[in-house]
Amino acid sequence: MPPRIKPLDKNVVNRIAAGEIIIAPSNALKEIVENSIDAHSSAIEISVKDGGVKLLQITDDGGGINKEDLPLLCERFTTSKLRKFEDLETISTYGFRGEALASISHISHLSVVTKTAADQCAWKCYYLDGKLVPPPTGGSSEPRPIAGKCGTSIIVEDLFYNVPSRLRTLRSYGEEYAKIVEIVSRYAIHTENVGFSCKKQGSSSTDLVIRAGMSRKDRIRSIFGSSVANELIDVELEPNSDIGLVKCSAYVTNSNYSNRKSIKPIFFINNRLVVCEPLRRAMNQVYSTYLPKGHKPFIYLALEIVPGNVDVNVHPTKREVRFLNEEEIVQSIVDAVEGKLSSLDSSRTFLTQQ
Ligand code: ADP
Ligand code: MG
Repeated sequence: MPPRIKPLDKNVVNRIAAGEIIIAPSNALKEIVENSIDAHSSAIEISVKDGGVKLLQITDDGGGINKEDLPLLCERFTTSKLRKFEDLETISTYGFRGEALASISHISHLSVVTKTAADQCAWKCYYLDGKLVPPPTGGSSEPRPIAGKCGTSIIVEDLFYNVPSRLRTLRSYGEEYAKIVEIVSRYAIHTENVGFSCKKQGSSSTDLVIRAGMSRKDRIRSIFGSSVANELIDVELEPNSDIGLVKCSAYVTNSNYSNRKSIKPIFFINNRLVVCEPLRRAMNQVYSTYLPKGHKPFIYLALEIVPGNVDVNVHPTKREVRFLNEEEIVQSIVDAVEGKLSSLDSSRTFLTQQ
């Protein structure tokens, strides 16, 4: 007799789903930082212990969460950002599925402190498996009033405490922390008018500090140093409605800058941090004629495509994005970068020949 088919327990389903989205502490961090940006924050502070496994604390000065919504905050598929399927076409927030906090609450001990402008005080509460629970010290699971500033603080402790297989596949704390700093760096470069800071808990030094008023070039300088920032060229593409290209702006290094230690290209498509293999390969191809063999440029590129042409829902981690006219769009970017590089190069040859 074949084994009978039975529904899985809801918490088992949720824990498996969580493990598909949150593979490392940096995945949890990314989701929480995106929530802070969605909440119109102007300062986001991150504090990390043991590579994010022991503690991830993200504090923002955004709009906060209504006290009445706190019981729903970590339920799966509860969101303030999407109301109907059609909204997906025009969505401008990072989140829309209402899955991130739910997932995290199934694989960690999550607590929240939040205050809206209308609240007299902040509210603190604890979650486990999607639901409000009493604090570790006991008492009621209801949010309790505490002193606090406007905004939200999300505290994730003991990540993967109940997913031993995930804990085993993690890198060292140092490497996991480096991945966190990398994610924060990328958002800090892209998200103008928002300040970021990131440090290890208890450490007196901060590993990344970006003030809200800093220009994009200064953000790149602060994170990657003057050797990159001094060699940046600004590339802008004209809109092209035939291929659904709304806007493309990029900072890429010229042929003076080359480094064997490659900085992974930073691509944002319609505001989402993505990997885009066709674009990465094409850019490497362009630079191969300008840089010594094995050397790589720095690339930050923000592309905006007609929203209806992009499918942001391809992958649960939302890292992969598909869009219409991919080849044509990649080609027009390649042409623009190539144009800038070659004109700079010929003016340099001209100068050295004088
Ligand atoms: P999503 O971002 O897809 O809506 P999440 O699980 O990430 O789902 O968050 C659920 C909801 O919690 C959000 O829709 C938002 O209303 C609220 N929220 C989460 N983080 C914050 C924050 N930092 N500030 C204000 N609201 C937040
Ligand atoms: Mg979210």
